[in-house]
Amino acid sequence: MSSVELTNDSIESEYEALISFMYLSPVGLVRTDPGGKIDMLNPMATQLLMPLVKSIGLENLFETLASVAPELRNLVTSFREPCGSICVNHRIHVSSAADGGIVLACTIVKVNDEVLITVLTDISCQVATERRLRQTDSWLDAIYTIVNDFAVLGLTEQGVINSWSPSAERLTGYTESEAIGETLGRFYSLSALEVDVLKEQLTFAREEGWHSRDYSCQHKSGHNFFAQTMIAVLRDEDDKFSGYTVVFRDITERKVSSDNLANLLTKDHLTGAINRAHFFNLAEKEFARASRYEHSISIIMLDADHFKHVNDSWGHPIGDEVLKSIAKIAEGVLRPGDTIARFGGEEFVVMLPKSNSLEASVIAERLRSSIEASSVDAGGEEIRITVSIGCASMSQSRSTLKELLISADSALYHAKSKGRNCVVDIDDC
Ligand code: GH3
Ligand code: MG
Ligand code: MG
Repeated sequence: MSSVELTNDSIESEYEALISFMYLSPVGLVRTDPGGKIDMLNPMATQLLMPLVKSIGLENLFETLASVAPELRNLVTSFREPCGSICVNHRIHVSSAADGGIVLACTIVKVNDEVLITVLTDISCQVATERRLRQTDSWLDAIYTIVNDFAVLGLTEQGVINSWSPSAERLTGYTESEAIGETLGRFYSLSALEVDVLKEQLTFAREEGWHSRDYSCQHKSGHNFFAQTMIAVLRDEDDKFSGYTVVFRDITERKVSSDNLANLLTKDHLTGAINRAHFFNLAEKEFARASRYEHSISIIMLDADHFKHVNDSWGHPIGDEVLKSIAKIAEGVLRPGDTIARFGGEEFVVMLPKSNSLEASVIAERLRSSIEASSVDAGGEEIRITVSIGCASMSQSRSTLKELLISADSALYHAKSKGRNCVVDIDDC
């Protein structure tokens, strides 16, 4: 400017530029005297102040704003400097959140003793965002600290705990200093065989964005609880993977009741063996697997000998105890993949996956001899019992569950006819 000679024309064009700046400006600009009397305002200022304009019109800025910002006049009169900022981004709540939540930021600059310039900016959106953030913050805070049964914590990219919360301490019993730097394995009751699931769950979460699974956990005090674990991948502002957030939820009660329900539906209430209906479910799957992988399956049919006599001599409750002991002994003899089910009154069926007739006969004989060697206490008297067993294994002529059950039953019939307390394979009949 200094190099340009100020002519009337240039002053005029400067003034026009200033006017058009004021006109187009996205913020409200108001020029007043120190008492607030308006001598110039731009369209944005008119728009922002319009909701406050009552019958008196838009003549004095402080009067217009008196109902929502009565303090402005005082701010101005108590400002003693010859010029400068009287207030910067002073918030004026024009309407409540329920009424649209209009909020203005007001900056008043004293140009000289005669002139004030007020800048008004609509910050309603920013304030609404701040309010939402505060709300989210308090929700998160509630989850972190108040809500029972939930615990939130953070993991590094390597799965090491790097943030802890009061809710996590409540659920696990561990303090922040005991937990930071550990892995989730600290809380899971995992056997040595299952340790890989720790890595696995993080890998699944990385691949899918999140992963949820139920684990048996141990509280610091030693008691076990069941937790649903939700692991979600965390990303930073550049969308780069930066770790995990973990939400633990104590589902012990739900788990116990769903386990109880599952037991009610699948187990025999007296002996705890699988019930007949569930046996058919399991057998169907096992036979499908056997035909896919060309495995053999053997079926053993077991019936207590002269069981009526047990009931007649010692009573039904003692008969029940004998049935329970047969199931218990069988569980000790059978291998982990084998299944024993109570088929009827004193009759049990055993499914032996991946077993041929020789292996089935060995297991059947072990079952028979173990039961023969055991006894049940009936008020001081030892009751001994024997069982008869029929076996059938898959062969060219027998491949379905139905065929194996019929064959094992017929072998059992032969075992009874032979005098009981023995094992008969259908192929030896
Ligand atoms: P066998 O050697 O020929 O098999 O003779 P058994 O007496 O074992 O056979 P039988 O079929 O004549 O009798 C089976 C008995 O099992 C009759 C029934 O009252 C009894 N029983 C069936 N279910 C139960 C039960 O849940 N508890 C008890 N205590 N007895 C049962
Ligand atoms: Mg019987
Ligand atoms: Mg029977």
